[in-house]
Amino acid sequence: MPFLSDKHIMNKTPILIALGGNALILPEDKGYIEEQFIHTSACMKPIAELISRGMTVIITHGNGPIVGNILLRNECAKNFIPPMPLYICVADSQGGIGSMMAESLNNELKRIGINKTVSAVITHILVDNNDPAFQNPTKPIGPYYSDSDAEFYMRMGWSMKKIPERGWRRLVPSPKPKKILELEAVKALLKQNIIPIASGGGGIPVIEENGITRGVDAVIDKDLSASLLARDLSLKRFFILTDVDGVYLNWGSADRKKVNALTIKDAEKYLAEGHFPPGSMGPKIEAAIEFLKSGGQEVIITKPEDLIAAMDGKRGTQIVKSA
Ligand code: ADP
Ligand code: MG
Repeated sequence: MPFLSDKHIMNKTPILIALGGNALILPEDKGYIEEQFIHTSACMKPIAELISRGMTVIITHGNGPIVGNILLRNECAKNFIPPMPLYICVADSQGGIGSMMAESLNNELKRIGINKTVSAVITHILVDNNDPAFQNPTKPIGPYYSDSDAEFYMRMGWSMKKIPERGWRRLVPSPKPKKILELEAVKALLKQNIIPIASGGGGIPVIEENGITRGVDAVIDKDLSASLLARDLSLKRFFILTDVDGVYLNWGSADRKKVNALTIKDAEKYLAEGHFPPGSMGPKIEAAIEFLKSGGQEVIITKPEDLIAAMDGKRGTQIVKSA
């Protein structure tokens, strides 16, 4: 008789929950912290419910709109204080979002009578200096710039791209995550029954030269970092919460169609057919495939408010190894 059934292991191993940055600031928001707390608390509610059902969770999050605002603040204040490099802005966003999430989840848990510590880990992720992404920056980031500002920054070495009607935007590399430097800290928290928040904003990207690490101005996709974290911890379940209720085929066209379940094979086929664009749904699907190919059993992509229903197969999109 097997010591532990697959189902038992599924129920006992922690679940990694990745929350999209777009769920924290909505397009119609002004950006006030009160707005962000409202959205964060709403996202923490179903997570608290999972915990109340006896499940262990690890949380990771995106930072897109938040780091965008930090960069804009850099730009507006540049004549008074030196602008901070992007990797420090990512670190700042991990601190701010981590604080807001830890407090919101704690309060949600207290409301339902659970006393648990939630702790955000400032997380650095090693990337390869030879990653081809460094030769070809593709990720637009920060504010829009005028022609003259763009000319100045390009002379300073930035890659920039002109977007019609709006202005210039900085492009940064998006290298693949190689190694989570604070993995042992996350494990230690789990061992102590503490809920970790880790790898926020995809992690602070660092490269290693002669045994010394240093931050680099790049952005690691948070879904790919989350997948690495889930694999490093040998997790079975990985839930991706975003601002859309699941995965669609023909997204953006009138005949778009939601898919309730996908196997790795389906996902790979649709990815190759171009249903999942880079920078949004593409990395989520890639993250899911990588996770399932290295021991993961289930990925769910859904909206935060549908999390519980999605676990029961009633909402969202479930991705599994095979049918
Ligand atoms: P997050 O902050 O959660 O990472 P993203 O904007 O990166 O959010 O990804 C979610 C977005 O992906 C959705 O809001 C949707 O506009 C877009 N998207 C692109 N292709 C698809 C697809 N095939 N199915 C569903 N959403 C898609
Ligand atoms: Mg994203």
